[in-house]
Amino acid sequence: MKQQRVCVLGSTGSIGENTLDVIARHPERMSVYALSAYSRIERLVAQAWDTRAQVVVVPDAAARKRFEQLWPAGRKPPEIRVGAQALEQTAADDGATTVMAAIVGAAGLPAALAAARAGKRILLANKEALVAAGGLFMQTVREHGAELLPIDSEHNAIFQCLPQSGQAGAPSEPAKGVRRLLLTASGGPFRTMALDLLSQVTPDQACAHPNWRMGRKISVDSATMLNKGLEVIEAHWLFAMPVQRIQVVIHPQSMVHSMVEYEDGSILAQLGQPDMRTPIAYGLGFPDRIDSGVGLLGLTALGRLDFEEPDLQRFPCLRLSFEALGAGQAACIALNAANEIAVASFLDSKIRFTQIAGVIESSLGRITGCATPSLASLEDVLALDAQTRRVAAEFCLEMA
Ligand code: NAD
Ligand code: MG
Repeated sequence: MKQQRVCVLGSTGSIGENTLDVIARHPERMSVYALSAYSRIERLVAQAWDTRAQVVVVPDAAARKRFEQLWPAGRKPPEIRVGAQALEQTAADDGATTVMAAIVGAAGLPAALAAARAGKRILLANKEALVAAGGLFMQTVREHGAELLPIDSEHNAIFQCLPQSGQAGAPSEPAKGVRRLLLTASGGPFRTMALDLLSQVTPDQACAHPNWRMGRKISVDSATMLNKGLEVIEAHWLFAMPVQRIQVVIHPQSMVHSMVEYEDGSILAQLGQPDMRTPIAYGLGFPDRIDSGVGLLGLTALGRLDFEEPDLQRFPCLRLSFEALGAGQAACIALNAANEIAVASFLDSKIRFTQIAGVIESSLGRITGCATPSLASLEDVLALDAQTRRVAAEFCLEMA
């Protein structure tokens, strides 16, 4: 077995911290090569010290200085690299065999793509990369023989339930015998709240997910269910599945992480505690099963599993996501970019929770109403992403 040397992009985030927890359990088979953070530099220093990372990537010169000042005496500091380009370079570095893509938002796309181009094992948590550039990303994985393992819990569950070819790559057609993918969704913290109260909810309420502890952006996405919309688009690309064959099912307990329905009437499901260390350990250990630190699921204590239809009136962001996927790549880029701006604005208490969908819908209308370029290259994608961010910021200002 080859020793894995892991580059953890976004190491100070929720997925990043969970990844370091799993890696620390398996010193005989894996180690940390590089870490990256955008803020919380003191946490990055502690992580680099504990893991003996060889490289760290920080956003700017001020962060580099802070890292150097905080580094304790007595041991040589890691090599410090600076800026977005350094992220791409590090993701493609010969020193790493494996890249955990756990930066939040489309900001993580260039580095994830660089890892694919370098033929790495990619553990993909950064769903926004696939939403913005799914076709380009999957084609790059294919052309460069990269290994792709989904870390998002639903997609990891589906990957586990698909017919096993022993391969982790980029399929160009749906797996044989599969009828549909059933993506489960908890419904978030506002599944049963009276509709007229939704406009008053605070950022902290939106971030208090009933089952998962996650970063603030994805927590808000779960509350609007835009997260599930992004995941439908993610599933479409990862498993080459037409949108008509992807169904969202509300499952409030978050124990069934998703399911695959077969032509013969079978449905295979993956169950487990809602703890991201399970999919992370699956990705790091693949094809072996390794300890993740997650406890077993007590089925009799749990007692029951519930399933229901999603309510598209309560969750307009879910409807917008299905529409964007039907409309094509420009709409998907705009959906994601407008959402990033709207969520940041809500977290900053500038717009209301219920205005997030409005910002997205208005931005989508504006962007898809214009002629868009081919979107075949990363530059095209990033240009449309930037253009949408400007448009969405204007709509946020108008609504504030
Ligand atoms: P987080 O906010 O906790 O962490 C984000 C990380 O990215 C941090 O290390 C931060 O420093 C870094 N970062 C932020 N902006 C950056 C930028 N512009 N450039 C470079 N680095 C930047 O987020 P998270 O909850 O860990 O989520 C990370 C990704 O994983 C997201 O795409 C999310 O949708 C996905 N995901 C998360 C979970 C979860 O349980 N947290 C589950 C499934 C998928
Ligand atoms: Mg998920």
